[in-house]
Amino acid sequence: SVPLTVVAAIGSASRFGVIIKSGAVFERFGVIRHVAVDKTGTLTRNEPAVTAVLTADGVDEALALAWAAALEQHSTHPLAAAITAASPGAPAALDVTEQAGHGIEGILDGARVTVGSPRWLDAGTLKDRVAGLEEQGMTVVILHRDDVPVAAIGVRDELRPEVPEVVRTLAAQGVGATMLTGDNARTARALAVQAGIEDVCAELRPEDKATAISELGRHGSVAMIGDGINDAPALAAADIGIAMGATGSDAAIESADVAFTGHDLRLLPRAFDHARRGRHIIN
Ligand code: ADP
Ligand code: MG
Repeated sequence: SVPLTVVAAIGSASRFGVIIKSGAVFERFGVIRHVAVDKTGTLTRNEPAVTAVLTADGVDEALALAWAAALEQHSTHPLAAAITAASPGAPAALDVTEQAGHGIEGILDGARVTVGSPRWLDAGTLKDRVAGLEEQGMTVVILHRDDVPVAAIGVRDELRPEVPEVVRTLAAQGVGATMLTGDNARTARALAVQAGIEDVCAELRPEDKATAISELGRHGSVAMIGDGINDAPALAAADIGIAMGATGSDAAIESADVAFTGHDLRLLPRAFDHARRGRHIIN
């Protein structure tokens, strides 16, 4: 059975927004030495906005955005929200399928339209300009029409303002941080510098995130915090999986041991502190 002190500690954590699934989870939480943090939607504000559109010769910018929005209105990905907001009233694509960590495809006006990561889709003649946008910290997705690169869309998502302070507080607690992201290395580095995070693993597919967690786990207990369906394998692979935001995807919450009701990352050092104090009462 779970000691009453642990029941009480779990109860008080829930009152400041940290839901802990069991007494065993609470005890494992207290010995975490490293945290892997998803970038998009966890370190960033989750208010991405389209800030650049590049098109191949003869392709209209507004039309390219509308093609992308036709697909993205079927997706809950943060990038999708930015693209649909930039092209209100776009038609809806048919037969849409999304591949977590890669992108989305469907049929529009009889053509096959695909939007996704430059790792998944060739940027063609736009390649150099795509790299330039990424160095400025933008996430760029490529648009293909019938397998031909027709446009690149740059999306900017600002770092959450509390992040640099949270990373310093974690360091003071002896908890290291690694950024994990499916995004490209150039964009990830630009953001990691702002965050004060030195260790970055970029261009990861969802299953690669789980592998990265296993490797980090060789040096001690590791927690993973993320918000998306693409984070589910990594949350399950970590000693402690933390789902951020009560409105996060069901898959993320189901795979998690701990859920934060809000999106404030200051809950992370606060929860570590709470779990460590709780352990001292028990032992
Ligand atoms: P992160 O790890 O940063 O949360 P994801 O794993 O969700 O990112 O996605 C990785 C990359 O896959 C994105 O940067 C984007 O290039 C591409 N991608 C994923 N889903 C979509 C989508 N719905 N539309 C366009 N691109 C997508
Ligand atoms: Mg994410």
